[in-house]
Amino acid sequence: MAGEVLLVLNAGSSSLKFSVFDAAPGRNADLLAKGQVEGIGSRPRLLASRNGAGTAVDLPPAAAPEAGHESALNHAVDWLRAQFQGATLAAVGHRVVHGGAEYAQPVRVDDEVLRRLEAYCILAPLHQPNNLAAIKAVRQRLPALPQVACFDTAFHRRHPAVADRFALPEALYAEGVRRYGFHGLSYEYILHTLPGVAPALAKKRLVVAHLGSGASMCAVRDGQSVDSTMGFTALDGLPMGTRCGAIDPGVLLYLIKAKGMDADAVERLLYQDSGLRGLSGVSNDVRDLLASDAPGARLALDCFVYRASRELGGLAAVMGGIDALIFTAGIGEKSAEIRRRICQAAAWLGLELDDRANEAGAPCITRPGSRVSAWVIPTNEERMIALHTMALMRQETAGAA
Ligand code: ADP
Repeated sequence: MAGEVLLVLNAGSSSLKFSVFDAAPGRNADLLAKGQVEGIGSRPRLLASRNGAGTAVDLPPAAAPEAGHESALNHAVDWLRAQFQGATLAAVGHRVVHGGAEYAQPVRVDDEVLRRLEAYCILAPLHQPNNLAAIKAVRQRLPALPQVACFDTAFHRRHPAVADRFALPEALYAEGVRRYGFHGLSYEYILHTLPGVAPALAKKRLVVAHLGSGASMCAVRDGQSVDSTMGFTALDGLPMGTRCGAIDPGVLLYLIKAKGMDADAVERLLYQDSGLRGLSGVSNDVRDLLASDAPGARLALDCFVYRASRELGGLAAVMGGIDALIFTAGIGEKSAEIRRRICQAAAWLGLELDDRANEAGAPCITRPGSRVSAWVIPTNEERMIALHTMALMRQETAGAA
């Protein structure tokens, strides 16, 4: 195909997700193709689709473990080249988990930006190095191609100080130990779509619940994030698929001092063996837990709903009340049962669920007249990155003209 396209990359620890959008002037950034290389470092596999036709191929393992991501990118690029012969790649937009205290907006990557972003690797050791490795690999192949970094933290940068601070000495805050908040690209996308779905809500007090394998909730007032359940890392707040969520830091001292666990063992426990998986002993997937009779499965879902309800009350308090609750991401979009249980627990806020609308996953799932309304709005972080990247490129072109 001829014309301009835009590539969006989301490089995780063991997967590389990619999407291609139409970037032709006057077009609305339509999705043209998407895919991922999963199993990087173990059994890499490329899954991709375009125009409804899918591809799934096992890839040869990388020559060395540290070459896994670069090799994944090369395979993805080969597939894309074959699919989009004749098209011009206008730019690459990247999901970058951490923009530190510095970046409240997407930014065009150059040497200086890359150097600054490297400094945040220590704040997100499981994600940031992979995000930056993808940027560097593209730079190596195509040095002149514009690349834009879009941050999960950026949307939360205007938090008031009270929401940003831990009760720790100033020196730690100054070196970056603060509550950043994550899932910002998802929250931005929800706000971007809101005028089309529920225009009256755009300026209201909202809690957006991004409930996926990673889960967080965000208080939004006048379109701005005022607080969220995630903090310094994406471990805080709600229990997640495999992550623990909020935990008394004394537990960590116990694990280290009384049980002699080292940092790697604690990290594994908190990131991979906790949350719904740890609580249930059955699965990290809500579908499995809903289908299971095991007492642990029930307990895990009870804890998830309990914590979400508690955080909802806290975030409503931060805004002096709430006008709407919005569910998004895998669990939020697809599980009527979890939405029902969270909404039932929110009856005290004046939220009256409409069971039929909830079962149907209709955008509005509360009864007419409900003081607090509830909504289901699908998220799309890749599209948000595409929109940011196109906007920045157009801004630069306009600035240069
Ligand atoms: P991520 O992008 O963070 O990997 P998603 O937002 O896709 O995650 O959410 C994945 C999770 O959504 C799954 O682990 C599962 O728990 C949940 N999920 C997906 N589909 C359903 C469903 N039909 N019913 C209940 N939960 C679901």
